[in-house]
Amino acid sequence: MSTASTAEIREAVRTLCKRFPGPYWRALDRDRAYPTQFVQALTEAGFLGALIPEEYGGSGLGLSAAAAVLEEIHASGCNGAACHAQIYMMGTLLRHGSDEQKRHWLPKIASGEIRLQAFGVTEPTSGSDTLSLRTTGVRQGDHYLINGQKIWTSRAEHSDLMLLLARTTPLAETAKRTDGLSVFLIDMRKALGSGLTIRPIRTMMNHSTTEVFFENLKIPADALVGESGRGFHYILDGMNAERVLIAAECVGDGRWFIEQATAYARERRVFGRPIGQNQGIQFPLARSYAAIRAADLAVGHAAARFESGARIGEEANIAKLLASEASWQAAEACVQTFGGFAFAEEYDIERKYREARLYQVAPVSTNLILAYIAEHVLDLPRAY
Ligand SMILES: Cc1cc2nc3c(=O)[nH]c(=O)nc-3n(C[C@H](O)[C@H](O)[C@H](O)COP(=O)(O)OP(=O)(O)OC[C@H]3O[C@@H](n4cnc5c(N)ncnc54)[C@H](O)[C@@H]3O)c2cc1C
Repeated sequence: MSTASTAEIREAVRTLCKRFPGPYWRALDRDRAYPTQFVQALTEAGFLGALIPEEYGGSGLGLSAAAAVLEEIHASGCNGAACHAQIYMMGTLLRHGSDEQKRHWLPKIASGEIRLQAFGVTEPTSGSDTLSLRTTGVRQGDHYLINGQKIWTSRAEHSDLMLLLARTTPLAETAKRTDGLSVFLIDMRKALGSGLTIRPIRTMMNHSTTEVFFENLKIPADALVGESGRGFHYILDGMNAERVLIAAECVGDGRWFIEQATAYARERRVFGRPIGQNQGIQFPLARSYAAIRAADLAVGHAAARFESGARIGEEANIAKLLASEASWQAAEACVQTFGGFAFAEEYDIERKYREARLYQVAPVSTNLILAYIAEHVLDLPRAY
C-alpha cells in the first residue's frame, strides 16, 4: 500500500465505509457498543497499520496518508474514534521502542492479531496538568510495580496493549518537571485481574471510554519504552501526531455536515422555494466551508512537516484548534439548516453533533492550545 497515492487511499476508504452506513452506527450508538466489524474491516484493509513500516508487516505510510484515512472515515459519516489511537500511538513505539519490542509487537499489531488502542495519560486529579500525574512505576529487580489510576482511557476494553505514562522518579527529586516520567507498553491480557481493573464510563456519545485502576500491578522491566525518566518527551511526538490526526477527523466531520446540509437545503422547500435560496441559510454554510478548507490546509501543512522530521508543536496545535472549531461551526450550521429534522435520529446529524463536540475538549482542550501558542509561539509569560 505504501505506493498507493493519497487519492487512491481516500477512494479505498470511502468504498469500505459504504459497507457501514448510518443504521450500523445508530444501532451501536443506542447500545454504546463497539464497532468490531468496522475495526476488523479497517485492519484487514491495512489502514490501522498505516504507520507501521513494511518490514514489520505494516503499510509503511506517512502521517499525511494516515490523516487522509481518518478524514475520509469521518467524511463518510463513520467514526474513527474506535481505533484512531492505534495509528497515533505508533510514533512513540517506532521512534523510541527497542528493536526487540518492535520485532515482537509490530507484526502482530499490523496483522490484527493484537490491538494497541489504549493510551493512559489523563488522571482524575491532574487533568490537563499532565506533569502532576500520580500513577507510579517503581523498579523492583526484574519488574516494575504500577500503582495509581487513569481516567478517560478510551478503548481499554477493546485493546490488548496499553501505552501508559507513569512517574518513575518522584517530582521532588527531578531537576525539571518534565523529567522522571516513563512510558510502558503493558500487556493488558496478562494484567487484567492481576492488579489492573477497568470500569467503563457511559458518555454522551458512543466512545468506549473507561477508568483504569492499577493496584500493585507487576509488569516486566522490558515493558519500559526507551529510557526511564524520558517518557514525557517521548509522548510529545505522539501527541503532536495525534493532534494532526484528530484535526483530520474534524475536517472530515465538517465535510460531512456541509454535504448533508447543502443537499437538504437544495431540496427542502418552505414558503414556495428551497431554503438554500435564503442567505440566512447559505452564509453560515459558506462560512463554515471556508473554515474547513482553511483547517484542511493547516492539517496538510502540519502532517508534511512532521514527515520531514520537524518539530511541529505550533503547527499541530494550530491545526487541531482550527479544525475542531471549524467542524463545530459546520455542525451548528447543519443543525440550523435541518431545523427540527436535525433532532430525529434517522438523519445521523444529532449523533454526529454529539461526536464532533468532543474535539474542543480532548485530546487537549482549546484553552490549553491557546496557552501553548501564547507561551511557546508568542513568547508571552506562562499563564499557569
Ligand atoms: C471521551 C473522552 C475520551 C478521552 N480519551 C482519552 C484517552 O484515551 N487517553 C487519555 O489519556 N485521555 C483521554 N481523554 C482525556 C482528555 O484528554 C482530557 O479530558 C482533556 O485533556 C481535558 O482534561 P480534563 O478533562 O481533566 O479537564 P481539566 O484539565 O479539568 O480542564 C477543565 C477546563 O478548564 C480549562 N483549564 C484548565 N486549566 C486551565 C488554564 N491554566 N488556563 C485556561 N483554562 C484551563 C480547560 O481548558 C478545560 O476547559 C479523553 C476525554 C474524553 C472526554
